[in-house]
Amino acid sequence: MRVLFLGVRGSTPAPGSEFVHYGGHTSCVAVAHDDAVAPTLVLDAGTGIRLLSDRLPGRDFSGVILLTHLHWDHVQGLPFFGKGDQPTSDIDVYLPAQDGLGGRDQLARFLAPPAFPILPEGLQGHWRFHAINPGLLELDGFHVSAFEVEHKGGRTFGYRVTDVSGSIAYVPDHAAVSRPASLAGFLRDVDLLIHDAQFLDVEREVAARFGHSTVTDSIELGVDVGARHVVLFHHAPARTDAEMESMERGIEGPMPVTVAREGMTLTVGTRD
Ligand SMILES: [Zn+2]
Ligand SMILES: [Zn+2]
Repeated sequence: MRVLFLGVRGSTPAPGSEFVHYGGHTSCVAVAHDDAVAPTLVLDAGTGIRLLSDRLPGRDFSGVILLTHLHWDHVQGLPFFGKGDQPTSDIDVYLPAQDGLGGRDQLARFLAPPAFPILPEGLQGHWRFHAINPGLLELDGFHVSAFEVEHKGGRTFGYRVTDVSGSIAYVPDHAAVSRPASLAGFLRDVDLLIHDAQFLDVEREVAARFGHSTVTDSIELGVDVGARHVVLFHHAPARTDAEMESMERGIEGPMPVTVAREGMTLTVGTRD
């Protein structure tokens, strides 16, 4: 499985010269099977999804988009995904069920005038919007487990994605300090844990207030569940490259720990 990091920021994009090394786009990760030419599964649709078009052959996208939740930094790129907004695109979008609304109607709470010029059905191509509960999905050769995580402001899922070569868990927004015991079952022995590390340890109080995790929370969670590799993700928008590099130098873990960077590709689960 190839995992392509297209947006690694949390909260809001971070443009500017102080952010070019780690990148300023918000959360988006694209996943491809080992033998596939291009990604067919996308995790979140932050502004980073704009970069996916350049990674796709042809004119359109056929595949799946899994949204963890509907905060701006995870959905704002959706109508700007060029190869999704094509007459021949074919896309299934999955998002957490809440408030008794279907998937289309949840998106239409912000993808609608006056907040935005078009409704979800204004996107070109074949889009289907599915509101789901925690459970298992079989999608394009991927086994997907959707599970609920603690965050603030709306229902939030994490996703574990497995194919024949390996597994990843994508948990970009998560207050890991208050994790229930059941969470470990969803993350157990995962090859790659991509996890919320928006805050530093000295920012513990604000992390708790906003429903996020610290760098140490992420690594400790990785240790607890036996993750083989931890990727620190959803970086604070104000954290400059210099500050990120300083943070990266201080990281220690019993397993490999990588600070997510826009444009980075990781190959996962090449089992021996
Ligand atoms: Zn977020
Ligand atoms: Zn969030």
